Amino acid sequence: MRVHRSNQRTPDVGREGGYKRNMKLHLRGATLITCDAQDQILSADLLISNGLIEAFLPHNSPTPDGAETISVAGKWLVPGFVQAHVHLVQTLFRGLADDLALLDWLRERIWPLERAHDPESIYWSARLGITEMLLGGTTAVLDMATVHNTDAVFRAASEAGIRASIGNAMMDRDNEAGLGTSTEAALAEAERLRARWHGQGRLAFSYAPRFVPSCSEALLKQTVALARQHGCQIHTHASENLDEVAMVRRMTGRDNVRYLHDIGMTGPDVVLAHCIHLTDEEVAILVKTDTTLTHCPGSNCKLASGLAMVPELRAKGVRWALGADGAPCNNRMDIFAEMRLAALLQKPRLGAETMTATEVLRMATVDGAKALGLNAGSIETGRQADLVVLDPDMPHSLGGGDPRSAIVYSMTPANVTDVFIGGQQVVADRAVVGWSTAETISSSKAALSRVRGRAGL
Ligand SMILES: [Zn+2]
Repeated sequence: MRVHRSNQRTPDVGREGGYKRNMKLHLRGATLITCDAQDQILSADLLISNGLIEAFLPHNSPTPDGAETISVAGKWLVPGFVQAHVHLVQTLFRGLADDLALLDWLRERIWPLERAHDPESIYWSARLGITEMLLGGTTAVLDMATVHNTDAVFRAASEAGIRASIGNAMMDRDNEAGLGTSTEAALAEAERLRARWHGQGRLAFSYAPRFVPSCSEALLKQTVALARQHGCQIHTHASENLDEVAMVRRMTGRDNVRYLHDIGMTGPDVVLAHCIHLTDEEVAILVKTDTTLTHCPGSNCKLASGLAMVPELRAKGVRWALGADGAPCNNRMDIFAEMRLAALLQKPRLGAETMTATEVLRMATVDGAKALGLNAGSIETGRQADLVVLDPDMPHSLGGGDPRSAIVYSMTPANVTDVFIGGQQVVADRAVVGWSTAETISSSKAALSRVRGRAGL
């Protein structure tokens, strides 16, 4: 199905300043799955102005003066999906690190491969991952890059027009792969990147220490101080794997989240990926500090890390977002697959009523947007017009019942026809607007071959 447009405009992707901010769009004829506080499902047109949702209009309303009309009749509109834990630099490593547990996965494959990257291979890895995610309706990401050349990730995100909070992976402890820097170099690189990219268009800088075993206490404490000084988020991994948790106990004498809390790395500005293996005391810390956790069910299954106690922690008031993690531990960057797993995995343990489609869809939209501090994640007036057009009439998804069930249990990226970020169309008729997917594929293949050659993998 194609979205029929009344007049074609030239896309001006990624340059928020250069985008025609006064552009008005009238999206006609869709069903709106709003993810607002009442979880309303509405039949209404949307008027978008200056990148924001300005008004809901009755179907068949006349097009307001100066607005461009796009017919989305028969389609569903949902808020853009948010993935609150990804690694765009790892997209090229898909298939190169299968069937390994976390620490071997890191030491034997991921760190040597990251070390073999060059700026151009990082750019193409990010571009490949962003292509996959935009085509699947993801409009915002929280990304951990690698130690060097993080500018290339920012450059790809900027060209795509995706909302992205990105940080260099900070590592100042020795490891087998020799990936890392001194404490001073890690912090200096973070400061350089923050000054260069934070607040540029849809981009933000976030401080991204890799995880406790890779970081000295001095690095972690200075990271907390700098993040608070500059109002940036902190993004790290925590308590993903039992061997990691044991290693942190040996290194610090404390449980992982207890340790992070003691050095100041908990709070509403902190996003911790995974948090599978927690003590009751650590759960209480996360509740009290309003720290956001990111659930990555595909990665947690594939690395045999374990099953996060998402429903129990949600019931205590912990906010969980969703993310696919990286291509070599998933192996898809597909929010539909993560939503389906997030719902299904808990049901054998806690019953079929656990983790409803409505709850899971909220994790992937409004809760993810809150985690990233975005004015997005729901279809409400005044919100950013980050919108995904879904075609429900496909063989694998056509049916009755609540549309949210179809989205979580049946749909795949194949249902995504068009995507808007800040009212700007970034996917049109199942194609990325801002760049050539054919070029992304051919250049990614060339980059992959260079990286594999250097890494010997
Ligand atoms: Zn990760």
